[in-house]
Amino acid sequence: MHKVLSVDVTLVPRDPQAPGQFGHPVSVPDDKKEEAKSRWKEGNFNVYLSDLIPVDRAIADTRPAGCSEQQVHDELPTTTIIMCFVDEVWSTLLRSVHSVLGRSPPHLIEEVILVDDFSTKEYLKEPLDRYMSQFPKVKILRLQERHGLIRARLAGAEMAKGAVLTFLDSHVECNVGWLEPLLERILLSRTKVACPVIEVISDKDMSYMTVDNFQRGIFTWPMNFGWRQIPQEVIKKNKIKETDIIRCPVMAGGLFSIDKKYFFELGTYDPGLDVWGGENMELSFKVWMCGGEVEIIPCSRVGHIFRNDNPYSFPRDRVRTVERNLARVAEVWLDEYKELFYGHAYHLVLKNLDVGDLTQQIQLREKLQCKNFKWYLENVYPDLEAPLVKASGLLVNTATSRCITVENSTLALEACDDSKEHQQFNYTWLRLVQHGELCLDPNGPHGAPGLSHCLGWGHGQTWLHRSLAAPQTQLSHHLISQHLQQPACLEVDPSHKALRVNACHSGNPYQKWQFGNYYAD
Ligand code: UDP
Ligand code: MN
Repeated sequence: MHKVLSVDVTLVPRDPQAPGQFGHPVSVPDDKKEEAKSRWKEGNFNVYLSDLIPVDRAIADTRPAGCSEQQVHDELPTTTIIMCFVDEVWSTLLRSVHSVLGRSPPHLIEEVILVDDFSTKEYLKEPLDRYMSQFPKVKILRLQERHGLIRARLAGAEMAKGAVLTFLDSHVECNVGWLEPLLERILLSRTKVACPVIEVISDKDMSYMTVDNFQRGIFTWPMNFGWRQIPQEVIKKNKIKETDIIRCPVMAGGLFSIDKKYFFELGTYDPGLDVWGGENMELSFKVWMCGGEVEIIPCSRVGHIFRNDNPYSFPRDRVRTVERNLARVAEVWLDEYKELFYGHAYHLVLKNLDVGDLTQQIQLREKLQCKNFKWYLENVYPDLEAPLVKASGLLVNTATSRCITVENSTLALEACDDSKEHQQFNYTWLRLVQHGELCLDPNGPHGAPGLSHCLGWGHGQTWLHRSLAAPQTQLSHHLISQHLQQPACLEVDPSHKALRVNACHSGNPYQKWQFGNYYAD
């Protein structure tokens, strides 16, 4: 074994006075403000400054203490770097490539594949070929139509020769010693997916900034990616060190290393995913549920320009593309928890979204004998709140303090008794009031509100309850059926024995209901 190599070579000696040298911030001179402003949209970051900064600038070694002393194996696998781009800014793309070549041990880089996803800019054609011809390891793959990030990465992976695939964005700066710790993890176990800590290159002043330690990649409903720090008490209790590897429920997606053979065994990305978005969820679930692990390696650090908007156009509508991708992931991987996804993105239910054919993905999950999503939640992401229903238990009427009771197929009101099975209801994410396999229907079998077979969305069985979507917030304790001519509320009739639906009145306690337990708002 050997100590991690701190490679940092340049073609010519660095000028310590150059703008942005050492990752320092740069400011735009007053007489260049207009120019800088007008060039912003070329990349949605400060393109003017990027062009001033040397393509091989130095950046601060931000690794936690101890990283430079760590030992790695002499026989690490080689890697192919895959960097996709569409209309990337010239200086930023060059800086990305220089940082890979300058800060990686050369014998570990099999090749750098730049995948040109049908860029329109002339400087990315012949001038780029000419520039890169000085680096024999750099290959440029030109796609003949716009593939989108997901399929562009796959095109790069298909031709890769290295044992490991390392994906990077085209606006990054790899820090000293970034590569060996990633490859070391994969050498230890080929089913590990190793991610560097993603640091921040400021979109405004182009400075290189470190980030807080102990960050994990997580998601919140409806599958929004985010970062969350491990709580201080957990760090203390488990004596977690800054250099310790962090298990990650989901990866950010842009920057990671994976064993090439393993990536193909996993079926790569779902080829039904389009352009950009959701692919990080898909790969993360697939890796964890099918026997692998996703890790952040604190000793590996790569800067990335985060920006507010994509500077390129989407072949189809951006929001719809991402929604459809996420719905595919939910359908294939979330099992019964997909109701949480749809419950938090209810507009997708209303839209009746077409996610396309899922047969192959479902077959793949069976073939790989992957575990279920419940296992994932319990073992990988136990701190995610994921109640399968929004509320459950007795359904108590406020005016009478009596409970809805199932009597054959009709409903009555009786004294509440939590031990009675036929007084138990669930309020689901899809807004059904469910008793076993039956659903509360404003037009039950006998005309009055009763139980019918659950028909899912669009069959008049949905009810709003404690919902922000309610027509009036004063109706939050009501059960509002939206599928009658007018929104109508479930109420106890004057006999106090039967149920009916009637015009909603906010103050009417005969229309107010409470479930035994609430798990979500
Ligand atoms: N990209 C691509 N084709 C696309 C969209 C993106 O090749 O259709 C590239 C893009 O140039 C970048 C990488 O994929 O290098 C990731 O995209 P982006 O940086 O916009 O994603 P973000 O970092 O904002 O999540
Ligand atoms: Mn990016």
